[in-house]
Amino acid sequence: MEIIDVVVVGGGPAGLTAATYLRRFHRRCVVLDGGDSRARRIPQSHNCPGFPDGVSGPDLLRRMRTQALDAGVRIEPVMVDALLREGDGFRAVAGERSWRARAVVLATGVRDVLPEVDWAEDAIACGAIRLCAICDAFEATDLRIGVYGPRAAVASHARFLRGYTQRLVLMPIDRPFDDEFPAPYKESTVRVLAPGGELDFDGARCRYRTPDGAETVLDTVYPFLGTQEAHPLVVSAGAWPDLPGETVVDANQMTRVAGLYAIGDMVSGLNQISVAVGQAAIAATHLHHQLPSAPRMRAERV
Ligand SMILES: Cc1cc2nc3c(=O)[nH]c(=O)nc-3n(C[C@H](O)[C@H](O)[C@H](O)COP(=O)(O)OP(=O)(O)OC[C@H]3O[C@@H](n4cnc5c(N)ncnc54)[C@H](O)[C@@H]3O)c2cc1C
Repeated sequence: MEIIDVVVVGGGPAGLTAATYLRRFHRRCVVLDGGDSRARRIPQSHNCPGFPDGVSGPDLLRRMRTQALDAGVRIEPVMVDALLREGDGFRAVAGERSWRARAVVLATGVRDVLPEVDWAEDAIACGAIRLCAICDAFEATDLRIGVYGPRAAVASHARFLRGYTQRLVLMPIDRPFDDEFPAPYKESTVRVLAPGGELDFDGARCRYRTPDGAETVLDTVYPFLGTQEAHPLVVSAGAWPDLPGETVVDANQMTRVAGLYAIGDMVSGLNQISVAVGQAAIAATHLHHQLPSAPRMRAERV
């Protein structure tokens, strides 16, 4: 079986950027992608460098895919089941198919845990639910912002969101806030609702109904329910994470396994497109210098 230079697992902003860089170093690489980037859910991003009028996640992904394909990257729509060490390199397995490569870049992202309701995707699409305060709290400035989740998460994120609005509504789902809780949550403009209520969506905005039947309408809600960050591929290739979900990498984005790199949301504490593409550039450039050099012997079509 042919051995290519690099398999990139994941075709979100991180993986597509890494593959584009690698192809532009004349490396043979393939992107194996399950097609479920977090960026698909971005209605409109206003903090993505170079898009002063904003860009939707699907549009950004389409542009990044076009750029990668134009550079000559191959993109295969598959989910990788396992990543095996084989000789000095790796074998990525997806069902009956497999790819051998000298090196692997993992860019498999994370998955948001959403409220268990059937309208969550619709609410995200119209901004009634937001999943990334760093990304878009600016657009929610001075709105009535709901903060929903376990008490500890609500407390820590409320502190950040208080910088965007006076009108915070805290909705802890497990335990009520009590007197031990410090300012600024005792301000008159900050409302604290009882746990055990129900979050609902009317097609434009969310509302929270407390157990006593009182309803509060929210302009937007940030649920902080965490992410699922299991990275079985990292483990199957022999690089165990120190913490669940935190894939450990060095300054060049390499894991403890030589030739295995990890980039994007699956690594960073700061889950941002700009971070993902920066890590991709670092990993791809370091990886190119680690691979055997490939002098150009004749003019070929680029
Ligand atoms: C609602 C929302 C709004 C956001 N807004 C912004 C914003 O305004 N600005 C900003 O900077 N960031 C924003 N983000 C965060 C941003 O989307 C992520 O930081 C970014 O998508 C991370 O890129 P990534 O390539 O690491 O992971 P992802 O984009 O999640 O891509 C991972 C890819 O890997 C694939 N994959 C996973 N496992 C496998 C496997 N085993 N085999 C093959 N493929 C696999 C997935 O299907 C997916 O296509 C937002 C996120 C959300 C949810």
